[in-house]
Amino acid sequence: MAETYKCPGCGAPITFDGTSGKMACEYCETQIDVSAMDKINDMYSDSVIDETPVEKEYCSFDGYKCESCGAEIVTDEHTSATFCSFCGSPAMIKGRLSGALKPQKVIPFKIQRDAAVTAYKKWAGKGLVTPSGFRKESTIEKITGIYVPFWLYDYGADAHVSAHAKKRRTDRRGDTIYEHTDHFNVGRHVKADFDKIPADASEKMDDRTMDLLEPYNYSELTDFQMPYLSGYQSEKFTYDATQLAPRAEQRVRQYIIDEARGTINGYSSVNIVSANVKLNRRNAAYTLMPVWILNYNYKGKMHTFAMNGQTGKVVGKLPKSFGKIVAWFGGIFASVSAILFLLGGLFG
Ligand SMILES: [Zn+2]
Ligand SMILES: [Zn+2]
Repeated sequence: MAETYKCPGCGAPITFDGTSGKMACEYCETQIDVSAMDKINDMYSDSVIDETPVEKEYCSFDGYKCESCGAEIVTDEHTSATFCSFCGSPAMIKGRLSGALKPQKVIPFKIQRDAAVTAYKKWAGKGLVTPSGFRKESTIEKITGIYVPFWLYDYGADAHVSAHAKKRRTDRRGDTIYEHTDHFNVGRHVKADFDKIPADASEKMDDRTMDLLEPYNYSELTDFQMPYLSGYQSEKFTYDATQLAPRAEQRVRQYIIDEARGTINGYSSVNIVSANVKLNRRNAAYTLMPVWILNYNYKGKMHTFAMNGQTGKVVGKLPKSFGKIVAWFGGIFASVSAILFLLGGLFG
């Protein structure tokens, strides 16, 4: 069985509201603290939640039953929170959010759906030559709030860096100017801690898009509780902390070298010759981050609008429609001929 949080006031499905930071019922205006939701839900739920997926022989998807209407909820293997496609109730798949799959932290959604839609419309309306399909209501409806799985790594870094540095100086003897270059071997030993280095753990999400959505404000990182997912999509990680570590380590390695480089001052040029970096992974926290996303297939190519669900930062590249460019130039040409025609009329 998939889990749905019910409003204790009226029994309707209740969702997480980013504005108030509480669970809010859109029917009777009941509001409940996120931390109280699980207790209330257990109290009102009369059925025992069966975590065994319905076995399906004809397809590879796991089936779960909707707690509200009994219909089967079909998801792919990564989904941990979704909606019933028959009654629209939020559905959390607890078996994919507990045990080893339980997220440790979450940044709850702060940007509401209507704000994401407004930002999308602005984005899609920006390009003079954006294909019109991007602006259709049926396209806009597909905008989805999804919690994307990340690993947040904490590393201790220790680096021995050596550099070849040059200093140029000139002196004048009589009428002659002499140029000298002094060469220095410079060594630095730098130690630093780097906390919360993110790497997205979802196979489906484009790494580059996710990197561009940074930074998230980690001061709003909070302990994971399942009610935060009610009303959103969510995915479990595809790659575990060890599999993704090289991505984070590559970043940390660069950070510590930059740090060392930053302490070598007063030369006319500095060249890093070697860097011996030792990294010590202190922690990796499984974390869900909020993203508004819309994928639109235009002429066989997928275009993605993505918005940081906490800060509102927008990422995405729009295609140009050739038909529209022609129409645009056509418009200019047409008005130029109209002016000529007018002039012709006056002087002819
Ligand atoms: Zn209610
Ligand atoms: Zn349902």
